[in-house]
Amino acid sequence: MAEHELLSGKLLREYNTILAMVEIYCKAHHQSKASECQECQEFLEYAHTRLDRCPYGQIKPTCNKCPVHCYKPHMKAKAREIMVFSGPKMLLPHPIMAIRHLFSERTPVPETVPVEFSNRHIRKNRKNHA
Ligand SMILES: [Zn+2]
Repeated sequence: MAEHELLSGKLLREYNTILAMVEIYCKAHHQSKASECQECQEFLEYAHTRLDRCPYGQIKPTCNKCPVHCYKPHMKAKAREIMVFSGPKMLLPHPIMAIRHLFSERTPVPETVPVEFSNRHIRKNRKNHA
């Protein structure tokens, strides 16, 4: 199974949004395709793992509002760089994705961090009960 198939719903949409932003960023900065660029692949893999393990799971707030701060500092810096560069360029190639992202930034952050609610937890629990 391809790794990105582990994600679904909101988490998958968020991953696809990041992927689209990395593609724009990589083309401009590395003169490459994200799928062929080692640096960008590494970042995407990392972002994927963070999404899979996000304790909020399907009720995840957008990362810039999230109180958990799960990214390592250098990955966080990279994420910010990619988003600052690609965010404003998303509207033309990916209008629906961009608008959805703006709306989800207005969704309030849940008051408490849920327990065993991450995509990974749910997948593991499902396996244990099967
Ligand atoms: Zn790249």
